[in-house]
This record gives sequence, C-alpha cells and structure tokens, in this order.
Amino acid sequence: MKSLRYIDDVATLVLYEEKCIGCSLCTEVCPQGVFEMHMQRAEIVDFNACMECGACVKNCPVHAISVTPGVG
Ligand code: SF4
Ligand code: SF4
Repeated sequence: MKSLRYIDDVATLVLYEEKCIGCSLCTEVCPQGVFEMHMQRAEIVDFNACMECGACVKNCPVHAISVTPGVG
C-alpha cells in the first residue's frame, strides 16, 4: 500500500501540531506512513503520500488533523 503515491503537493492534509497530545493513533491508522512521532508529537514525514482517506482525522481524539477528501 505504501508504494501507492498521490499527485505531489495537492493533498489537503493539515496537522495542527500545537493540538497534538501524542497518542500516536494517526501513525497507527495511516496506511501510507504519512506520520511519525517525534518528541511525543505527530509530524508529517511524507505529505505527498497522503491519499486523503480520512482515517487519521477520524481517529485523532483532539481534532488536530484535517483533510478534505476529493479536493486535492
Ligand atoms: S488521510 Fe489517510 S493517507 Fe492521509 S495522512 Fe490521513 S490516514 Fe494517512
Ligand atoms: S492522532 Fe492526533 S493527538 Fe494522536 S498523535 Fe496523531 S495528531 Fe497527535
């Protein structure tokens, strides 16, 4: 799955790092390996791999991620 790529620089993914509480759920549910945990906060490490599935948004308990499927 991780080998599938979306078009570069068009994903609508936004991470509001200041809201992140470090639960790491986004790193577990993202099928594309977009997030990694650093210093107990999520970081986007592969923005262009995002396929806007919305799994991270649904699972983030503090609404620190947004994505608009079908726009990018
Ligand atoms: S929308 Fe899907 S592919 Fe994109 S970062 Fe979230 S879980 Fe990963
Ligand atoms: S799911 Fe939300 S709160 Fe949890 S690590 Fe990811 S961005 Fe942070």
